[in-house]
Amino acid sequence: MAAKTTTEDKAKSVKVQAESIKLELFGDLVKFSKKNAREILPLKKYDTLAMGLLNFPHDHRLLIYKFLCGLALSAHARRTNNQAQRRMLFDIKNSLFLAIANNLDNRRMLNFRFCVSKRFKVMEYCPECSKKNEDDKLGQKEKVFCQNCKIDRTFFNVLSMFHKFEQGGASLYLGKELMPQIIALKLLKHVDIEHLPEQISYSKLKFTPHNLISLDLNSVIDVSKKLLAIEAKEAAVRPPSYDTGPSKSGQRAAPPRGKRNY
Ligand SMILES: [Zn+2]
Repeated sequence: MAAKTTTEDKAKSVKVQAESIKLELFGDLVKFSKKNAREILPLKKYDTLAMGLLNFPHDHRLLIYKFLCGLALSAHARRTNNQAQRRMLFDIKNSLFLAIANNLDNRRMLNFRFCVSKRFKVMEYCPECSKKNEDDKLGQKEKVFCQNCKIDRTFFNVLSMFHKFEQGGASLYLGKELMPQIIALKLLKHVDIEHLPEQISYSKLKFTPHNLISLDLNSVIDVSKKLLAIEAKEAAVRPPSYDTGPSKSGQRAAPPRGKRNY
């Protein structure tokens, strides 16, 4: 019994090692592999996901892969101090999000919620607070603010796209400023952001922007680009099916055809 506990403890103590697992896409199947064969890694968890997704239909499997890459890109973007790198990673993530959301065949499997955060951002400190923060040399998280400072209480609000399936679910965030890029997005329910964390759950496994740091970044970027290329190729031959419901006038929300008048 004691020995069993020790083994379990050891398994739990296997730390999330950054960039230790390589992600690859062969045709329309992903494979996870160790970058260093000698490392002890939570690879089994990833294999379980990969094996489970083997049984999913092509479209559904690619959908989950896009969520997975999006989350891994979030993981790496949040940890880098390089602004250009962060922007580049979020750009790919946003492309994945929009590719999922604007594939109207996917839309039947998706739901959207507007997630409201309790966090807020001080956009500009008033002269008094600025002086105090400077005088006391306060760190970013210790800075004081008051009613006269400019505060944006909506700064951390995001759009969540989520998909529930038999074995679990997937959720991904998009900055609210990009919401107009989603075709025919209807009025959204508001929820507390804590109720809809950004993650994939599969059986009892969780893949989050915390633990997906273990995926090798270059391999994630590579697979993301391949997934986007597959999506673009399939979208080109897909018959238009704008069946996200009738618009207010009762007509289907089809894109304008013919010449552009702008
Ligand atoms: Zn102030």
